[in-house]
Amino acid sequence: MIADLHTHSAASDGQYAPAELVRLARERGIEVLALTDHDTLDGLEEALRAGEALGVRVLPGIELGAAEYDHLHILGYGFAPAALAPLCRKLKDGRDRRAQRMIDFLRQKGLELTLEEVEETAGGTPIARPHVAQVLVRRGYADSVPDAFRRYLDTGEFRREVRRFKADARTCLEAVKAGGGKTSLAHPCQIGLDPRALEELVGRLAAWGLDALECRYPTHTPEQEAFYLRLAETYRLHVTGGSDFHGERVKPGVRLAALQMDVDRLLETDTGFPGSGQADIIAILKNTDSSSTDTGGTYLRLPP
Ligand SMILES: [Zn+2]
Ligand SMILES: [Zn+2]
Repeated sequence: MIADLHTHSAASDGQYAPAELVRLARERGIEVLALTDHDTLDGLEEALRAGEALGVRVLPGIELGAAEYDHLHILGYGFAPAALAPLCRKLKDGRDRRAQRMIDFLRQKGLELTLEEVEETAGGTPIARPHVAQVLVRRGYADSVPDAFRRYLDTGEFRREVRRFKADARTCLEAVKAGGGKTSLAHPCQIGLDPRALEELVGRLAAWGLDALECRYPTHTPEQEAFYLRLAETYRLHVTGGSDFHGERVKPGVRLAALQMDVDRLLETDTGFPGSGQADIIAILKNTDSSSTDTGGTYLRLPP
């Protein structure tokens, strides 16, 4: 089947609303699209409805940042949302608390800014560093958003002092598995480990129930892809692939991927609901008691 198993909508940090993303996927000839927003289930219901209307099979997904390394990301697929809701709530609380820590950190450096200003910029969506960066630019502390990151928000000191809560990889894997879903290790190239350390990590994750490895990814070289395919074979993992599409304005040069992939095993998930088709999953989402739907309908607003 033609699939893209790694995409982001405006429910996390992507450019397009979930329904718009599904429409773009159909134009691209994609038959199976996984929406894998960071730490949130908020975009899934809209994406699933759009999928039903447009004839695109939408696979509910999530991308969880694990605590061990900066870019250790676990993709989850086809889970029962109720199983992920408590973890998503904790992650959202962690992001909210980090917002105040970011302000405190900058004020200690003598910069004048308030949480209210940053909240206003975020417009009701979870506060992220780009929102703070925009305030710093407006206040004249930086020339541009990238300049604000370089000077203040992406320094070693910032990372040491302003950490946010993340679960460890095993907890992420177990949360998805508890919901009957499948997991894949995202963009192994970005974790920044040498081949031996990466193999050791993959072995450990496989022992904890990892199902697949994201071997196909836009920035992987043919050599890297071949190495990851070998790792997948050694540890009996399935192969997944995706674009990590965020929209042209967020990640220029990355378009939706139309990859020929065997996705049958990912689709045959066990969420404990009859059929587990899109209509079932929408019903489950509606019954999910999740404060992670707080922002329902409003998404991260991007600077024009
Ligand atoms: Zn990622
Ligand atoms: Zn991603």
